[in-house]
Amino acid sequence: MLRALLLLSLSLVAAAQDNAAWKRPFPPHKIAGNIYYVGTEDLACYLLSTPQGHILINTGLADSTPLIHGSISKLGFKLQDIKIILNMQAHFDHVAAMQEIQNLSGAKVYATGADAPSLEDGGKSDPAFGPKPQFAPVKVDRRLKDGDTVALGGTELKVILTPGHSRGSVSYSTTIVDNGRKLNVLFVNMNTVVMPLVGNAKYPRIAEDFTRSFEKQRQLSPDIWVAAHASQYDMARKLKAGSFIDPEGYKKAIERHERMFYETLEKERSQKLRSE
Ligand SMILES: [Zn+2]
Repeated sequence: MLRALLLLSLSLVAAAQDNAAWKRPFPPHKIAGNIYYVGTEDLACYLLSTPQGHILINTGLADSTPLIHGSISKLGFKLQDIKIILNMQAHFDHVAAMQEIQNLSGAKVYATGADAPSLEDGGKSDPAFGPKPQFAPVKVDRRLKDGDTVALGGTELKVILTPGHSRGSVSYSTTIVDNGRKLNVLFVNMNTVVMPLVGNAKYPRIAEDFTRSFEKQRQLSPDIWVAAHASQYDMARKLKAGSFIDPEGYKKAIERHERMFYETLEKERSQKLRSE
């Protein structure tokens, strides 16, 4: 009993620490080429600057706007120059400030066909966190399909649907030139499990989606990879080390997430068998 309580309070402390890192400011910095980090300590937001305005990927919590705005300004850019807003998964910790930033900048919001309904109803239809409203609804101007290109001012992002974590979670790949060197950069949605994999009536094909997304992600070999949470790609350590190039780390991270998925799937399947 005492041990259970101790474990519970430890996990609560861990959760509270995670949330604190979601809200703590973090120095904005260049990742490579025209890609900049403008998120909080753990909620990653990326600004891709171009001569024709900027693309912003992810927007953080409802009260993250001043932090993101401040980070963009510190780098010498203007929030008003954002033309396109994207996200990697329509969950409140990455999209709650989106409506406000859309309003302030007048940018267009692009989202995957599968995540768009959830963005537009404020997360009510999200199978993991609904039906309670999660964030201010956002109007989606363009629905993205697998293989689509998002282009602005010479920057091109390829849309790679990687559903599972959310119904429409997505990764984006692009090629940049950094110090004369061509680099492939992947904004990868790390597929963690946040809802039932077996017997999920709200998302019946969830397990198949995860399986196919991991297959796809295993085929990719980025020079630089970044994710929706800074902790997922060890941002602080790489920033200190002075380079985000890490092809080996990518393979390992995908393998680890795939293993965690199959472990959870096995556990849920055997639980279901025992209850039958
Ligand atoms: Zn999420």
